[in-house]
Parts: sequence; C-alpha cells; structure tokens
Amino acid sequence: MDKKLQDIRAFSLDELKDFFKEKGEAVFRGKQVYEWLWKKSCSNFDEMSNLPKATREFLNENFVINHIKVEDKQISNDGTIKSGFRLHDKNLVEGVLIPADERMTACVSSQVGCSLTCKFCATGKLNRERNLNPDEIYDQVVHIRDWANTHHKKPLTNIVFMGMGEPLLNYNNVLAAIDKITSPEGLGMAADRITVSTAGISKMIKKLADDKVRFNLALSLHAATDEKRNMIMPINESNNLEVLSEALQYFSKNTKNKITFEYIAFKDFNDSLIDAKNLLSFCKKIPAKVNIIEYNPTGDGEFEKADSNKIDAFRDYLEAHNVRATVRRSRGKDIDAACGQLANKKHDEALIK
Ligand code: SAH
Repeated sequence: MDKKLQDIRAFSLDELKDFFKEKGEAVFRGKQVYEWLWKKSCSNFDEMSNLPKATREFLNENFVINHIKVEDKQISNDGTIKSGFRLHDKNLVEGVLIPADERMTACVSSQVGCSLTCKFCATGKLNRERNLNPDEIYDQVVHIRDWANTHHKKPLTNIVFMGMGEPLLNYNNVLAAIDKITSPEGLGMAADRITVSTAGISKMIKKLADDKVRFNLALSLHAATDEKRNMIMPINESNNLEVLSEALQYFSKNTKNKITFEYIAFKDFNDSLIDAKNLLSFCKKIPAKVNIIEYNPTGDGEFEKADSNKIDAFRDYLEAHNVRATVRRSRGKDIDAACGQLANKKHDEALIK
C-alpha cells in the first residue's frame, strides 16, 4: 500500500475533535491528542499513554508527526547555543539561544534560506527553498526552551524571529506558530515577549495591524535614505522608506505594540552624524526605539563594522534628540550564531548554492 501519511499537526483542535467524532470515538480524544502533540511535544503516538491501544495503532497507520531534529549543538564561550534543525524533508535551518542575565531569548528561523538577498546577510546568499510550517517553527522554540532549562537553569523569556528567512513572507504560518506558542494549549507564552523582525514588507506590516496582533515588530532599517537602502537591501526598491513609514504609522496607531528599528553600523557607509540625522527624521513620525547593531562579518569582506567611538557618537546624537537608542553587541560570534551569520555553514555545505 502506497499511502502518503498526513502530518497530524496540520490539524486544528476542532478538526481533531471532529475527526474522532466522525470515527465514532469520544470527542475528548481530540483534545488529548492535541495536548500530546503541542503542550507535551510528543513525537511518537505510542507514547500517548492515555489513548487506547487501538486508537494509537490507527493514528500510526494514518498519520505522521514530522518533528524537527537537532543536528549538532554548538555552545559559544559566551553561553550562546546554536543548532541546525533537520526538517523531515532533509532541509536545514538554524536556531539560537541567547542568554543575557535573566533574559533567555530564542532566535528562530521562518524559512529555509531567504529570497531577499540583503547584501550584508549570510542567509541572503542562500536560495529560498521553502516556508517553514507552523509546527517546524514551534519545535525550534521547544528545543531552545529546553536548552535554557538544562544549560542555564532558567525559563525561556523571549522569542525573536531573527533567524533565517523573512517572517512576513511566510505570514500565515508564522502567525499560526505564534498562536500555538501563546495559547494555553501550547506553550502559554506572553505575546509581548515575542518580536517579529522584518526587512520591510509594507503590505504585510499593515496586515499585522488589521489582524490585531499582540507581538512586537522590529524593522531592519540599516539606512535612512532610499539611495543608501537600495544599495544594501533590494527589497527597498519595491518598499521604499515613505511606503514603509506609512505602514509603520498604521501599525503603531492600530496596535500600540512596540516597534524597534534595527540599524547595523557599517564603517564609512551609514555611521556618520549625517546618517544619524537622516535616521532621526525617519524616526520622527513613528514611536520606536533604535537598536544599533554591530556588523558581524559574513566572510565576503564587502563590509566592515563601524568603529566603536563612531557608534557611540551616533547613539549619543539620537539620545540627545529624544530617540531611545541602544548598542547591541554581538553574541555567539565564535560559532557563527550572531545576527546575519546563519547559513548552515558547519552543517551542510551542499545546501549552499
Ligand atoms: N528577514 C528578517 C529577519 C532575519 S535577519 C529581517 O530582515 O529582519 C535578523 C536581523 O539580523 C536583521 O535585522 C538583519 O538585518 C540582521 N543582520 C543580517 N546580517 C547581519 C550581519 N552580517 N551583521 C549584523 N546583523 C545582521
């Protein structure tokens, strides 16, 4: 018999309940199975100990649970942990745990590769192979939460969608994953501890507002004039700063959620006080804080990180003009786990095309 088994985690709770009802079984089995799948992250029907044997056998014959597998875990000397996650179709993505005092942040991927080709980003050099499913995003969070517990003896506190891929180009699955992560039947995490980072897909930023999401938004800005942004982020040609600004104002007014601008400081490209002034003008219409990020080398030598005295002057300028600005130093650089370095380097050279 050549039957393609369905991924059971594609079903909602109601669908599972209906499914058992149609089979003439008790409806509550749907909830039991759902809890095993999500709350307990169970990857094997045989371990669902409160189900009758016949039900477990039936599930085994008709469904699969496509759990992601930890490929090889690397631990940085600053405590950052990174791993490749092998997907059921052999694709690979990466996820990172970033520990900082009490804060334990999971950085997760949303796509295999990326289509946006930002010039400074290692993931941008990979092809976009496919979107991740909600369960594949959820599983990354579960694994990274477990690392926080076992390696750092602390609970996971935050989640950032700053791994591989552009989350707003995988809109439905990212929102479905966040729904599960925040629901009591899933991980029960607070939505305001989650930040989705985007290179700036204006239409989707507006959709987030229309969908009344409760998580925070980060915009990878990196340059505050179209001329400069076009040079490093091709997406800016179809989503220029004016259109972006309008979408962000819409998001801010309608959700009141936090917005952060990420700004990588590149040496002699966007690190002058004129650049800071341009950024200030962009910030005027949108209540946001600025995260100045150290550039992490990706091996091509095209960019260099700005000098720290320039970064400090840049931050001071913004602060002096009432824009909250912080400098974010890189974490996990020794294991290529820092922002923009996720490219499956250690795992699978064959996937890099
Ligand atoms: N596609 C999304 C999320 C992935 S990138 C986005 O663009 O926001 C996560 C963050 O890392 C972004 O702010 C991105 O611009 C930044 N980043 C990419 N390459 C980097 C590098 N080499 N050094 C530092 N930050 C980088």
